[in-house]
Amino acid sequence: MCPGCDIAPANPAVAQSGQPALAALVADAARTSLASDYEPDPEAEQPLYAARRKVYPQRVSGSYRRIKWAVLAVTLGIYYLLPFVRWDRGANAPSQAILIDFPSRRFYFFFIEIWPQEFYYLTGLLILAAMTLFLMNAIAGRLWCGYLCPQTVWTDLFQAIERWTEGDRREHLLRDRQPWTAERIARTGAKHFLWLMVAWWTGGAWVLYFADAPTLVRDLATFQAPQIAYVFIGLLTFTTYSLAGWMREQVCVYMCPWPRIQAALTDEHALNVTYRYDRGEPRASLKKAASLHAEGLPAGDCIDCLQCVHVCPTGVDIRDGPNLGCIQCGLCIDACDAVMKKIGRPARLIAYDTDVNIKRRRQGMTAFYRIIRARTVLYAVIIAAVGMVMSYALATRTNDAVSVLHDRNPLFVRLSDGALRNAYTVRILNKSLEKRTFAITVSGLTDADVDVIGGAGFADGKPLVEVGPDQSREVRVLVTEREPLAAKATIAVRFSIVPKGGGPVASAADHFFGP
Ligand code: SF4
Ligand code: SF4
Repeated sequence: MCPGCDIAPANPAVAQSGQPALAALVADAARTSLASDYEPDPEAEQPLYAARRKVYPQRVSGSYRRIKWAVLAVTLGIYYLLPFVRWDRGANAPSQAILIDFPSRRFYFFFIEIWPQEFYYLTGLLILAAMTLFLMNAIAGRLWCGYLCPQTVWTDLFQAIERWTEGDRREHLLRDRQPWTAERIARTGAKHFLWLMVAWWTGGAWVLYFADAPTLVRDLATFQAPQIAYVFIGLLTFTTYSLAGWMREQVCVYMCPWPRIQAALTDEHALNVTYRYDRGEPRASLKKAASLHAEGLPAGDCIDCLQCVHVCPTGVDIRDGPNLGCIQCGLCIDACDAVMKKIGRPARLIAYDTDVNIKRRRQGMTAFYRIIRARTVLYAVIIAAVGMVMSYALATRTNDAVSVLHDRNPLFVRLSDGALRNAYTVRILNKSLEKRTFAITVSGLTDADVDVIGGAGFADGKPLVEVGPDQSREVRVLVTEREPLAAKATIAVRFSIVPKGGGPVASAADHFFGP
């Protein structure tokens, strides 16, 4: 029997080995329940403001905790190391695998180079990301929030540092109620120092995506880097330190819109971290459960030890049902499994499950899982379709492109010989890594001359334009039609750029306007 409560193990065999640990666990629950000592008086007028109750998440081990550690290591490893990965693009191009090159207005992603004119790729990527998020949500709830979201990952790391420096939940709770001693100051100081270091590395890694990483690291160390780099490192150090260190679960509960959107996108078949109340209720301590059983009354498997609440990084009691504050990290599953093991009862009192299954079990029916549903099929089809369109666009992407803009005013000019002239601004993109020459042709008119202001001469009567490697060039093009046009004529024309030496021809449409 635990001296601090009325809990006694049900199974004497298990009690033999598990009792001291269980007693400590339950005594801990009793002692640390002071963390949530707010008891609203139902008679009193309640203020609309509720002060934050600091959450002291307890260390836990188990399969979900291991998954979270693995995801944390992989995601942070990718984030911090990716800027140093090299990718050979030839002599005239940067060799950083992922680079957002603002001065040259390029985005490099391994073998893909996105120009500002190709921002539709980003739109496609955003659609893919949104649909993948929706699909994950339809299959297994807030997988993103619980495992992959940067706020979750960094908060997890900051909480691990906090436990390492200030002790686990009970120790930290007790220390927070003590006066400031040299030891407490040293531990708290160490925690904030480590937090700031991680935040600083986070900000430092971010700016490496915007310049050649090894060069920028050297420039930062020798204070030769551009001022804006130091500003952004400072800004991101501050945001990481305050969001992951101080605000933590408040970001998820109050600031993030995704839980609200997610709640509207889920359905009763989506797997969520669920307290199986069909099995757990009525909750009762081991001793109380034994006496209830002796009286022929039912008692559930939940012994009300509060371990699931104590490990929760957002301070949620999963037994209260679906909650906006629950990020579905699964740590309460690990905590409860450990308790169930100690008292000799089956694991997964808390598990990924659905309310539909709980209701079915209560009616004596078997549980069933429906991953293939209309919404999961729809999301998968959209992901496949967008993915295929993007892959096709990438596979058929040419090294050249052209865009045309007709002069707004005047729309046309009549020359002294009666011919009509329209003027255009033509931008030619040369995405290859060598200088190239293009001949400009215009189709759609009967007897037209094409001239380029500042062109590189003519070949076969067609004006030539030179464009440097990996550059774009804007030129003024004058199109003169000698054939008389009908009044208010608007003729569709097509501009083409023919690469000297052969290759695919890019073209763009516009109009030729008459009087
Ligand atoms: S659900 Fe499990 S961990 Fe939570 S109070 Fe009940 S027995 Fe304890
Ligand atoms: S209730 Fe459980 S799954 Fe939800 S946030 Fe807390 S520990 Fe994670």
